[in-house]
Amino acid sequence: MKKDTAVAMVKCDTYREEEVKNSIVKVFELAPLPGVEGKTILLKPNILSDQPPEKAVTTHPEIVKQVIRYLKHKGAGTIYVGDSPGVPKPGFSGKKCGIADVVSQEGAVWAKFAEDKVLIKNPSGKKHKEFTVTSFVKKVDMIISLPKLKTHQLMYFTGAVKNLFGLVPGIPKSTYHVKYPDRDDFGEMLLDLLDTVKPSYALMDGIIGMEGPGPGNGTPHPVKVILGSTHLPALDIAASAIIGYDPMDIPTNRLAFKRDYGLRSIEDVEIRGNSIEECSISDFTLIPHKKHKHLIFDLFHSSKLIQQYRLKRKPKPYFIEEKCIKCGECIKICASNANWFEEGPNGKFVAVDYNKCIRCYCCHEVCPADAIEIRK
Ligand code: SF4
Ligand code: SF4
Repeated sequence: MKKDTAVAMVKCDTYREEEVKNSIVKVFELAPLPGVEGKTILLKPNILSDQPPEKAVTTHPEIVKQVIRYLKHKGAGTIYVGDSPGVPKPGFSGKKCGIADVVSQEGAVWAKFAEDKVLIKNPSGKKHKEFTVTSFVKKVDMIISLPKLKTHQLMYFTGAVKNLFGLVPGIPKSTYHVKYPDRDDFGEMLLDLLDTVKPSYALMDGIIGMEGPGPGNGTPHPVKVILGSTHLPALDIAASAIIGYDPMDIPTNRLAFKRDYGLRSIEDVEIRGNSIEECSISDFTLIPHKKHKHLIFDLFHSSKLIQQYRLKRKPKPYFIEEKCIKCGECIKICASNANWFEEGPNGKFVAVDYNKCIRCYCCHEVCPADAIEIRK
């Protein structure tokens, strides 16, 4: 991770073409992108599931369009665009979210993540020392993360760092949740992934973010800002602060201070352009965060007993029969085999074994019918 902690924040009210274009140019002026001339580049927007742009599940197509245009103007070579949802459908290409059209209209190339995978080792990883990722990670000279600013049931917030998890194609993503059910362990794994794939830049769509039960079933909420940085954790620290989180409550932010990323305190993040105060909003619904002050728990963090105690106290997924369209996505994604279809008086319904459930909330993320509630 480069130690230049500059984060550009530029207010942008709407997705109107000129406004987005000018704001993105400004972001790149304030926090410059490394040279792109002749480079093969992978753009990684957030396409958690293929939903229309107004639902704020995905990075807005106007952002993807203007980034492609900017890169071409600067002389970039082939530009690939791709992502891999948790439960990818055959031939997935981001049609509903508008990104497929942008890719073909702007002369970029859709990257089919699931077709070709590659194992990349990172022996110095703290938790995870090798990742099977899309082979595009190896094929390109640069990776640019294009996250959407959203809440996240498990990690509280999803931004530049978490967006990289989509480089792991398809359902195998959920097995990482089984291996790292604890938020901090999962956060360490995400930082290991960051150190392995080494993205060059992140540009975040924060014009309309997602509040409430994100990342798939929350509510669109205007935040009116675009952020950019070569330092992905620094960008996430700034973005989580403007929506009202204490940035240190976000596991990937807090753990970044323990790595050699040039961060000793939040003040080390150098904000350029609009300030945190100018961009902050006070009415963004966050994922409730319980601060635990039990130092003894931290000391015995890896103890099975402590982990089981914590698991039992976490909110559970509840499956709402009336809303369920019986698509089975929640069952396909559950790497713990904690849920299944059962026959009831009104037909089949999703049953769940909370003793097996690791509270990863992957089922909630992929449910297309908002039929899963996360609560105590
Ligand atoms: S039921 Fe849902 S929250 Fe529980 S382990 Fe399965 S996918 Fe994760
Ligand atoms: S709960 Fe959601 S994901 Fe699961 S079967 Fe019902 S609609 Fe599909």
